[in-house]
Amino acid sequence: MNKAKKEIIDIIEEKSQEFYEASDCIWETPETRFATEKSVEQHYKILEKEGFKIEKGVANMEHSYVATLGSGRPIIGILAEYDALGNLSQVADLPKQEAIVSGNNGHGCGHNLLGIGSLAGAVGIKEYIKRHNLSGTVKLFGCPAEESGYGKAFMARDGVFNELDAALTWHPMDFNQAWGESSLAVYQVYYKFKGISAHAAAAPEKGRSALDAAELMNIGVQFLREHIIDQARIHYAFIDVGGESANVVQPTSKLHYFIRAPKTEQAAEIYERLNKIAKGAALMTETELEIEFDSACANYLPNHALTEVMYENLKLVRPMNLTKEELEYEQKFCDTLPEGAKHGLYLRAKKAFPDLSEDELQEIAAMPINSKIFPLTFTDNTSGSTDVGDVSWVVPTAQVTIGCEPQGTPPHSWQWVANGKSSVAHKGLLNAGKIIALTAYDVLTNPELVENMKKEHSNTLGGKKYVSAIPNDVMPH
Ligand SMILES: [Zn+2]
Repeated sequence: MNKAKKEIIDIIEEKSQEFYEASDCIWETPETRFATEKSVEQHYKILEKEGFKIEKGVANMEHSYVATLGSGRPIIGILAEYDALGNLSQVADLPKQEAIVSGNNGHGCGHNLLGIGSLAGAVGIKEYIKRHNLSGTVKLFGCPAEESGYGKAFMARDGVFNELDAALTWHPMDFNQAWGESSLAVYQVYYKFKGISAHAAAAPEKGRSALDAAELMNIGVQFLREHIIDQARIHYAFIDVGGESANVVQPTSKLHYFIRAPKTEQAAEIYERLNKIAKGAALMTETELEIEFDSACANYLPNHALTEVMYENLKLVRPMNLTKEELEYEQKFCDTLPEGAKHGLYLRAKKAFPDLSEDELQEIAAMPINSKIFPLTFTDNTSGSTDVGDVSWVVPTAQVTIGCEPQGTPPHSWQWVANGKSSVAHKGLLNAGKIIALTAYDVLTNPELVENMKKEHSNTLGGKKYVSAIPNDVMPH
């Protein structure tokens, strides 16, 4: 490792305790979507102390921010998140499901770690720039509502990322990988029907059922599913079913739809067809329809040149040095997984490392924390969505996952919440910070890399320009 990179790692390690405390505080006050008031305060506390200039409340979101330090090019963006999930309250460190307060929020996606890991990266690189009087600007973006609502998509729509030369981020996971996968574009839309209530037996002819409209819409969409591309997904939830009395014609109903597809324009096409089905359902039932756009995000375009550099830094920083006690601690969470989970991990290892022996693959599958680094492959095979997608359309973007969650446990699980304040989770966020800062250093000191990234980005877009899928009149809500 060269001297500069060693120095950056030392800077981050010196401040590690402060980062761990902030991450733990965010874990203690889990907040969802845009209401991340207490969580963002933990970010401000460190950023103010570190001398960042903070612009609070960007893109019409009260708890978003842009924190800047340094001057001149390149301008490196780092993305931070801090939102939690509903109904995932869980006692820390406990290897069985038990809520602190039943129904409360919890950090089931590890965004307490994510945000502070990104912040650690920003602090590491800005300090190095300052000490060595280099040209370069660091911008840390505080992005609310990753889970639903998509803060980054609103920020991208408002041009918040436009002047960047690169964007970097990471995610806690149960394996280590530089992120070469695309993600699905998604549209989230509410369909509201309004009818007329009436006595269901005495005067059914006077009623117009909004519940019937919602059911007919769902049936229409069910038929549509045969006639869309294979990779698309349409999910729905009933938000309002009118009422609980079966002897009333239900006057209101509300459905929430998710439409996912590999490309934004494909999701847009399916969205238009859903609108027609909803209008048809309203026509059949003589109810009124209101289509309320919730949010949307674009598919993710990994920048190969930048991701390859981040991959090298992932290899450079590894491994996390875990003690016997830490591995035993994580094993307890792995023991909560159903029978067969280990076979799934074996298959995953086999796919990633086809040349390893059976024994070696079994050994990987049995690790409580997966310490291997998965090979970097670029692929369109994907299932999830992320609002990092919108950022990647605007600026060359790269991200990594850090294996700091018990192997085999999925995101949005109680196990991730329980593990969220552990020393392993802490080490994970620190590793992420180091990888982000080292990659920022490479961008800072290698003009040829910047040129290649930009050329590739413009080739990938192929003349297309980023257009947000969120209509201009839709505000974060
Ligand atoms: Zn997440």
